[in-house]
Amino acid sequence: MFDNNISTPLQKIDHPLLLDMSINLLMKRDDMIHPEISGNKWRKLKYNLLHAKKNGIERILTFGGAYSNHIAATAAACRIYGISSIGFIRGDELNHQSNKTLAKAHQDGMELHFISRATYRQREDLAWVDQLAHQYNALVIPEGGSNTLALKGLEEVVADIDIDFHILACAVGTGGTLAGLSKSLHPDQIAIGIAALKGEKYLEDNIKSLLKSKGQSENWKINHDYHFGGYAKFDAHLIHFINEFHHVTDIPLDPIYTGKLMYGMFDLIKKGHFKENTTIITLHSGGLQGIEGFNTQNGNLLKFNG
Ligand SMILES: *Cc1c(COP(=O)(O)O)cnc(C)c1O
Repeated sequence: MFDNNISTPLQKIDHPLLLDMSINLLMKRDDMIHPEISGNKWRKLKYNLLHAKKNGIERILTFGGAYSNHIAATAAACRIYGISSIGFIRGDELNHQSNKTLAKAHQDGMELHFISRATYRQREDLAWVDQLAHQYNALVIPEGGSNTLALKGLEEVVADIDIDFHILACAVGTGGTLAGLSKSLHPDQIAIGIAALKGEKYLEDNIKSLLKSKGQSENWKINHDYHFGGYAKFDAHLIHFINEFHHVTDIPLDPIYTGKLMYGMFDLIKKGHFKENTTIITLHSGGLQGIEGFNTQNGNLLKFNG
């Protein structure tokens, strides 16, 4: 599955606002990359799983919350790829029967370990992570899948875009996606990330450390104006936008990441933030597996399925 190069569609967005403002907007449909493995998580897992296989590592161990797209993607990818997986899940009060994401991960063969929030906080402690790697003979992948091997997979997104563009925009969780995209841009192109959670400074620091950047001039920036109060927070405006966007374009967006990305980009376009005739590509990073759970919890606010 990860052995071949893959291409996803680049879809032009038709919307009256874009005509008014003379902006050329396209969406890179990485949500269509695989029916079970969400867009950017597929890209991030690719070189991690190839690395594991090549080095005889039997298991992937990773971290995530109960609704994590990364947990879902890792479980499915490991099943398909024939490697075992362990998920350390935040929140020891949880069980996998009451949660669709975890139920599917369990079904995919992931061994779920529910750990306290205090233990979960150790996930960036290198000594602990090393010990886990030994104990389980596992390749440990950080939360969200963002490590150096992940960046390489994301660079292939840019390689798979065959038109000229000025701006490439994506949603930001840990920042791994934005970091990877920024690495393969031409000098006259920039990457914009729309933060999906409250994380001023810490997100920028995360990206700099992934890029091993020494503070030279950057070709990426993060906009922090569209997180709607934090991770998985939303309001009626965001929901209305996502439903409207689906109605006009037939593209489903998720409320955690890509909905905020497109809301933010449309708002910036409306405010005249970009020059006329700018070509913008936004990355549809997936996340649609979460819509069913979101609708169950929130009275079917979204008028479509993932
Ligand atoms: C995980 C995820 C992101 C965030 O990616 P980062 O690399 O962590 O910034 C964006 N979109 C979707 C759909 C995701 O699942």
